[in-house]
Amino acid sequence: MLQVVWLKRDLRLHDHRPLVEACLRSPGNVMVVYIAEPTIWQAGDLSVRHLQFVAQSLAEMAEGLHDSGIPLYTAIAEMEPTLAAILEHCGTFRLLAHEEHGTPLTFARDLRVHRWMRSRGLEFVEYPPFGVTRRLPSREQFQMSWEQKMSEPLLSAPALSQALREWPVELRPLRRALDFSELHGVPGIPLSSGQKGGERLARATFADFLRDRCTRYQSHISKPYDSMHSCARISTYLAWGNLSMREVVQRSRQALQSIAPSRRRHLEAFLSRLHWHCHFIQRIEDDAEIAVRTMNSAFEGLRGENEEIFQRWLEGQTGFPLIDAAMRALAQTGWLHFRGRAMVVSFICNTLMQDWRRPAQALAQLFLDYEPGIHFSQVQMQAGTTGFNTIRIYNPLKQSQEHDSEGRFIRLFVPELRELPSAQLHEPWKYVDLAMLGYPVPMVDLTEANRIARERLWSVRGRAKVAPETKRLLNKHGSRSGKQKNRRQSSAPEQIEFDFG
Ligand SMILES: Cc1cc2nc3c(=O)[nH]c(=O)nc-3n(C[C@H](O)[C@H](O)[C@H](O)COP(=O)(O)OP(=O)(O)OC[C@H]3O[C@@H](n4cnc5c(N)ncnc54)[C@H](O)[C@@H]3O)c2cc1C
Repeated sequence: MLQVVWLKRDLRLHDHRPLVEACLRSPGNVMVVYIAEPTIWQAGDLSVRHLQFVAQSLAEMAEGLHDSGIPLYTAIAEMEPTLAAILEHCGTFRLLAHEEHGTPLTFARDLRVHRWMRSRGLEFVEYPPFGVTRRLPSREQFQMSWEQKMSEPLLSAPALSQALREWPVELRPLRRALDFSELHGVPGIPLSSGQKGGERLARATFADFLRDRCTRYQSHISKPYDSMHSCARISTYLAWGNLSMREVVQRSRQALQSIAPSRRRHLEAFLSRLHWHCHFIQRIEDDAEIAVRTMNSAFEGLRGENEEIFQRWLEGQTGFPLIDAAMRALAQTGWLHFRGRAMVVSFICNTLMQDWRRPAQALAQLFLDYEPGIHFSQVQMQAGTTGFNTIRIYNPLKQSQEHDSEGRFIRLFVPELRELPSAQLHEPWKYVDLAMLGYPVPMVDLTEANRIARERLWSVRGRAKVAPETKRLLNKHGSRSGKQKNRRQSSAPEQIEFDFG
């Protein structure tokens, strides 16, 4: 029987269980499909830069699959008509895919596909893509289940096989083209200087990190400029599945065996973040609504929505050089280090008191590594809407002076300020006529805005921390790992889960 492998966020040939299973079950009778569904791509979180990355990844996959006698078809269509076309042209088939831990929209779509297949007596088999568990009975079991999944042997890419049938160029709406320009209504514009998709680049980037860059990881992780080189820079490859998390974990653990003891801490810190990756995605798997609903209802309705404020933040025109550099870096490259992401969310949601949803969607479009489970958990955490994480209101001036003291990052992305001496770069309004430089004055009095935000948020948090809802959320989504577990066991549910300083 024909085996149809449905690609989603797993755009690779190595360690790809659905592909391996399909080839084992019916060698020579396997086709691979990538379906760009308009309802998913036009929903507002995905953008043209993601589509561009997907097309690049598929182009490389198509070459490898071709060598193995497996065709790659794409379609710009919804799932049901596409499946109907496969049934009509090719007869009965088995559908194989990785589970998708996505937004309410992708969860609902997967349920529809299950129903469609079942109602026609066709089998749809799904496999976990990394360390997240569907229907996890309780958070207590997360760690064990993660460890088990990460220890499984890696799978090879499909071997060369003889195709049993002639594959046509078109099985409308499926076609062999890898161009999605006819998919209209996807927000954003293509990225000209970001990371490019494909397993080869993904592997090269990761190998280079393990060989050399990882030795500076912890020292540079919070530095906006240095982090661009010293962080692993694998998030986009993990988000779109160019790399398998299992492979990254196993290779990192091997590297840890041979690294000099003085450098171990860097790799250990990196390895713990691989665990966080799945920890956060498990949240959206357990409750997809966190993409749209304020996690802790005590924080609902606290903030406003103002178009002008939002646009100034989005376009990097706030008058705070580090915030503006961060937003412009995102627009130009699609990447920002962790602290920068936390800071821009804290600025719009706390300092400027704007609701988290619109910024979350805008950032999802900008982050090339947009991964719904990490993204919405982190945005809500940094916006202080969980009730069980500490509320952190970043001071962009302090961040700028501490982490970009010489202004290398600011100068790179805010050319209006490039010529200023470092001492003036962080608070330029104190020293120069900004109108002459074409740069805005600060849009708020930072000290006053942060004071008001702190008062408002802490008064709600004071009530929220004792509420049953906070306990329920912590129980459902909180980490059970080492240090945090001990802290939590010893005190109240408002304990900080991760305090990033
Ligand atoms: C508001 C906000 C939104 C974010 N949205 C995303 C997102 O959509 N996609 C995404 O991959 N990461 C997201 N992160 C987490 C983090 O900023 C990025 O994973 C990291 O900057 C990616 O760069 P890297 O691959 O060089 O990471 P490294 O620091 O080298 O870490 C290696 C890997 O560990 C994982 N990781 C690192 N930090 C975290 C973290 N805090 N939480 C969960 N996993 C982590 C990622 O998979 C990353 O690729 C977000 C953070 C914040 C504060």
